[in-house]
Amino acid sequence: LRAIGDLDRWVQRVVYGQALPRDLAGIRQTLARMPELAALADAMEDGPIAERLRALPPTADLLRLLQAALAEQPPATAGRVGLIRTGYNADLDDLVRRARDAKDAVARLQDAERARLDIPNVKVGFNKVFGYYIEVPRAQTGKVPPEYIRKQTLVNAERYVTEELKEYETLILNADAQQLAMEQELFQDLCAQVRARQSALRALASLLARLDVYAALADGALARNYVRPRLDDDFRLAIEGGRHPVVEETLAGATFVPNDAHLEAADALQILTGPNMAGKSTYLRQVALIVLMAQIGSYVPARSARIGIVDRIFTRIGASDAIQRGLSTFMVEMMETAHILNHATRRSLLVLDEIGRGTSTYDGLAIAWAILEYVHNAPHLGAKTLFATQMRGVVDVLQNGPHLGAKTLFATHFHELTDLAERLPRVKNYHVAVDDTGDAIAFLHALREGRAERSFGVHVGRMAGLPPPVVDRADQILGQLEASGAAVPASLDTVWEQLEPGQSVQPALYLDEHPAVTALKELNVDGITPLDAMNKLYELARLVQDPDRTVAR
Ligand code: ATP
Repeated sequence: LRAIGDLDRWVQRVVYGQALPRDLAGIRQTLARMPELAALADAMEDGPIAERLRALPPTADLLRLLQAALAEQPPATAGRVGLIRTGYNADLDDLVRRARDAKDAVARLQDAERARLDIPNVKVGFNKVFGYYIEVPRAQTGKVPPEYIRKQTLVNAERYVTEELKEYETLILNADAQQLAMEQELFQDLCAQVRARQSALRALASLLARLDVYAALADGALARNYVRPRLDDDFRLAIEGGRHPVVEETLAGATFVPNDAHLEAADALQILTGPNMAGKSTYLRQVALIVLMAQIGSYVPARSARIGIVDRIFTRIGASDAIQRGLSTFMVEMMETAHILNHATRRSLLVLDEIGRGTSTYDGLAIAWAILEYVHNAPHLGAKTLFATQMRGVVDVLQNGPHLGAKTLFATHFHELTDLAERLPRVKNYHVAVDDTGDAIAFLHALREGRAERSFGVHVGRMAGLPPPVVDRADQILGQLEASGAAVPASLDTVWEQLEPGQSVQPALYLDEHPAVTALKELNVDGITPLDAMNKLYELARLVQDPDRTVAR
C-alpha cells in the first residue's frame, strides 16, 4: 500500500477540473498496483477482505491508457510542455519533430553558409527584437548572395535573413505554444476518461482506505501484542490484563502495569479512589479505549477481553474551559455531565473523571453523590439506540432490573463517596494501590478492590517542586484537618484554633529572626578572646537547640 497514494483526492481533483498532470500520474501509479493486490486475494483465506479484493472494479484499460498517454515524469506545474508520451498522438509527434528539425537546420546553417559562400566569419545568431539573423563582416558583404535580405546594419557588419530562415523561425517560435495547446487538449481528454470511471475509482479508493486501516490495526496488534476480543450481546465487560495503548508506548524505560476490569449488572458502578498520580485516569481511559478498539474491529491491548457491546461511550474527562464561548470550567463540566445523564442508556459506558472538583468541596461532593445515585437508580426502559427492539428491552429489564445502571467508572478524590458502596448494591469500590511503607511512597499502578485510604496530594506537591515552606505548612494543616475528624471542616476556625501556637497563622518561614542569628549579628568577633569565642560557640549551639534561652552578650 505504500506506493499507493490518496486516490480519492486525485480523482476528486480530476472531477472538479483542477487536476494537474501529477494527479493523473498518481492515479496511474495506484492502478499499477492493482494486479498485485488482486493476487493477494488468492493467497488469502476466504473472508470479507478477500471478497472485496476479488470484487475490485476492473481498471486495467484505464491504466493502459494512462501508461500509453502520460509521460513517465510529467511536469509538476501546469503550463509546461512534455506531459504526453511520444508515440501517443501522431499530430503531436509530427509537430515536435518538425520543431526539432528546424532547430537542427538552424544549428547547421552557419557551417553550411561558411562553406557555400567562402566567408569564414559568417555567424548565425538570435536576438529578441529581430529574431534569427545571419551576420556577415562588413569587408565580406560583397560575397552576399541575392536571396539574403538586409535587416540590420552594425558598425562592422551587416545582418541578413533569408526566406528559409524566417520559416524555421516561425516554426521554432510557435512550436512550444502549439505543443502546449495540443498537450492540454489531450490531457483534458484523459481527464474525461478518468471522470467517466469516477465511481469505479471512488469504490477502489474506499476499499484501499479500508485495507489501509485493517493493515495498520493488524500491524499494530502484532507489534504490540494485542489480543482478539470477544464481543457479545451480554451486559458484562471483562478485561484481563488491560493496558493503555498510548501510555504503555510512552513510558520510557518503566513497564506498564496491566489491570483487569470487571463490570457486570450486579456491580456496574465502580468508584475509583487512589492517590494523585496513581493511575486512575489512565485506567479509566484504557477501559474506554479497549471497548472502542474492540467495537471498531481492532485487537485490544489486554491479555483477554470479553466486551458486551455498548451503544455509546460517554466521557467526562479533564478540565477544559470555553472562555471564548463564555463558559467557565465548571459550567462546561456540568453541561457535559447533563448531556451524559440525559442520553445514557443501560448499554452505555460512562467514564467520569473527578466530577465535581471544579466547585466548592460541598457542592462538588453533593453533585457527585447525586449523579452516582441517579445512574444507579434512574428508571430504564430498554436501551434507546443499539438494542432498540422492544423485546430486547423487556428481556433486559427482566434480567437486570428496571434501573439505568449503565456501566460506570467514576474516579474521585471525594473519599466520602466510597460510603455509597454500602448503601447502593450495584456500586463497588476500587482503588489504585501505592506502597507507603518506605520513606517515599511508591506508585504501584495496580487496581485493587476497596477504597483508598489517603490521597498523598501533599506528597505529590513536594515531588512536583512546590517550595518546601508551602509543602511543610500544607502537611501541618492537613495533620490538623485529619485530627479534627471532620471530612470537611465546618469552619476553618476549629482547625485554626487547634494548630499549635507558633505553628499557626504565620508559617515558620515568616517568624522573627532566630535568636542565634540575632546573637551572631551582635557579636564583635575582633573584640573577644579565643576563650570567650569558645564559650560563645557553646552558647550559640545550645541556643539553636533551644531558642527560648537568652544569650549573654
Ligand atoms: P490524578 O488524581 O492526579 O489525576 P491519576 O491517578 O489520575 O492522578 P494518572 O494521570 O492516571 O493518575 O497517571 C499518572 C501517571 O502514572 C501516568 O502519566 C503514567 O506515567 C503513570 N501510570 C499510570 N498508570 C500506569 C500503569 N498502569 N502502569 C505504569 N504507569 C502508569
